[in-house]
Amino acid sequence: MPLWLDIAVQTPAHSQIGGLLTYTHMPAPGEQALVPGTLVRVPLGSRDLLGVVWAIHSTAPARTEGLREISAVLSELPPLPAPWLQLVQFAAHYYQRSVGEVAMAALPPQLRDLNSTQLTRRLRKQPPAAADEATAPGQILSPQQAAALSEITALPGPFLIFGATGSGKTEVYLQAVQQQLQADPLAQALIMVPEINLTPQLETRVIERFGADRVVSMHSGMTPAQRLKSWLAAHSGAARIVLGTRMAIFASLPHLQLIVVDEEHDPSYKQQEGARYSARDLAIYRGRLEQAKVILGSATPSLESWYHSRPASEGGRYQRLLMPARIGQGQLPWVRRVDMNNQPRKTVLSAPLLAAIQSRIERGEQCMLLLNRRGYAPVLHCADCGWKSECPHCSAFRVFHKLDRTLRCHHCGLTDRVPRACPACGNSDIAPMGRGTEQLEEHLAELLAHVHRPDGQAVRILRIDADSTKHKGALETQLAQVHSGEVDVLVGTQMIAKGHDFRRITLVAAINPDNALFSSDFRAPERLFALLMQAAGRAGRDAGQSAQSEMWVQTFHPAHDVFAALKQHDYPAFAASQLTERAQAGLPPSSFQALLRADAKSQDVAQSFLNAAAQALQGQAEHDLAMADVLQQVSLFSAVPMSIQRVANVERAQMLLESPSRMALQKVLARLQPLMHAQRAGPEFKGLIRWLVDVDPLSI
Ligand code: ADP
Ligand code: ZN
Ligand code: ZN
Repeated sequence: MPLWLDIAVQTPAHSQIGGLLTYTHMPAPGEQALVPGTLVRVPLGSRDLLGVVWAIHSTAPARTEGLREISAVLSELPPLPAPWLQLVQFAAHYYQRSVGEVAMAALPPQLRDLNSTQLTRRLRKQPPAAADEATAPGQILSPQQAAALSEITALPGPFLIFGATGSGKTEVYLQAVQQQLQADPLAQALIMVPEINLTPQLETRVIERFGADRVVSMHSGMTPAQRLKSWLAAHSGAARIVLGTRMAIFASLPHLQLIVVDEEHDPSYKQQEGARYSARDLAIYRGRLEQAKVILGSATPSLESWYHSRPASEGGRYQRLLMPARIGQGQLPWVRRVDMNNQPRKTVLSAPLLAAIQSRIERGEQCMLLLNRRGYAPVLHCADCGWKSECPHCSAFRVFHKLDRTLRCHHCGLTDRVPRACPACGNSDIAPMGRGTEQLEEHLAELLAHVHRPDGQAVRILRIDADSTKHKGALETQLAQVHSGEVDVLVGTQMIAKGHDFRRITLVAAINPDNALFSSDFRAPERLFALLMQAAGRAGRDAGQSAQSEMWVQTFHPAHDVFAALKQHDYPAFAASQLTERAQAGLPPSSFQALLRADAKSQDVAQSFLNAAAQALQGQAEHDLAMADVLQQVSLFSAVPMSIQRVANVERAQMLLESPSRMALQKVLARLQPLMHAQRAGPEFKGLIRWLVDVDPLSI
């Protein structure tokens, strides 16, 4: 009896073959019955591709001409579990991409290239399911940790652990995992972190606790071979714990029982290309789907999660668990605001901050300075004719990097040597404007030249940012220098504010955080507050020193809400005021948003493509009462240029859609997609390069 199979394969985004493809299959005598989730190889054009069986029909579809046979069943591999298929399908629908694209992106790249023989060989190399050897004992929990863990045990969740930095959240995650693994010999857990490279300590900690043969990692820094190995270990059930970045949300885990999302507020949980999924949001969905417990944790939760964890009587759906105290009675640092209005013009480091840094160094303590701009100066400038180091391909300035004397565009990557004289007028006196981490490092070295460490040696300054850590292993080396105490002052971008357990840092300073206060992005204050709280959390990790630890903020707006709340370490107050503002303005989490984006050769084409789609939809609604009803609930704003309008000679435009109803927004997006496909062929849109949809965008 022949079968007809709907199969997910990799198809180019926005190709007309967006959905599943149908193939035929004639089972051989004695062949095991096919089930959805089976991996197969199928012909497409002249290629032979990996596919996942999505549905199986024993009756022929309406049209059968041209249907081809699948070329092989990869029967060596257990089929993907049904909830995995459902997760992929949900993600594809919700984020407006094809099932095939999401499914293939969710599988390790090497799997696509292996034939049956190669696969069999890989599988033979798999270790057997890990025996339950003893897990290393955990710490004895503090009362607040014990209370959190017992709620996690007793209730279904999802949970949001709102715990100060250093309050012992990680220990609670690990013991929750431990409980699950002990209760069920097959159980698996997924622990997600924003960026593994930034927190190698966590990986070590998990492996020490559970044993190297039970833990696998999944992140983009791994080789394709390593990724395949981890994936197979998880898929076969041999790995009991997957520790990974956002991509790990799609790991095949047949016995998943617990998902942890550490630092759940972190923007890197949102994928920024292809299907623009939020791994945190998918974790909630997947937990419900598989009846796995979900634990989110943060010292500065996303306002979405904070809102969802309001009391159940007010409609909250998550269980909020409070862990306010730092382990070992460590105190949070004292926050000091320096009013830069009272400092001499062009001051980089105010006198009191400089004095504080100096005395810390003389006592053998470490300081950390944050400046969210890498390079030496954001712009190079000619005072004579007004020339600025604009990127010829982007609507942005090229950044001056003094160390290698280059001008680099941080958007398209264009790099040139710094001109000797102004390219426009020949003036040889061109100067940097503004300040980046390179310049701060240089400036500090001058200011601290006369200062000595307790051992009599000169001050050591280290910069950590995307430039200093370009080469493999550089970050690890640099972090080790901080931990060992070789370094006295650490200068860096937000990269250094996250996650690290620096025990000797007693002073953290934000040099110029004001930009974020007046951004057009409504999430900028939330992100700044989280960054500063995280940074403050780096100070005084060692309880012995925490009483004297300080967080400094240099600002022209010392009375701003963000800094006032920071001063009190009062996230709940900050969140409450932000949520009120957002509710009044109809912004998330009070509403839902999506962005349509178009890239084109001209700004006009990009915008008119988006506007035309919106108009076509409104036109349809005139004859379609149901759609008219849905459209009533969704605001479609006019297309506008993106804030960085041109990148690498591509003009970019966006259109915002907003609705109090997630469902209505989804319906509109689903209807817009075919309209955009249809109008794309029109001659007026010849210059269109691509379009994309970003559902629940993180920045608008
Ligand atoms: P968080 O994840 O909230 O920042 P961690 O779990 O990393 O906090 O804990 C901070 C520090 O306190 C770590 O060095 C950890 O080993 C230690 N710690 C955590 N829980 C305990 C405990 N119950 N007893 C002793 N030390 C603990
Ligand atoms: Zn000039
Ligand atoms: Zn550029």
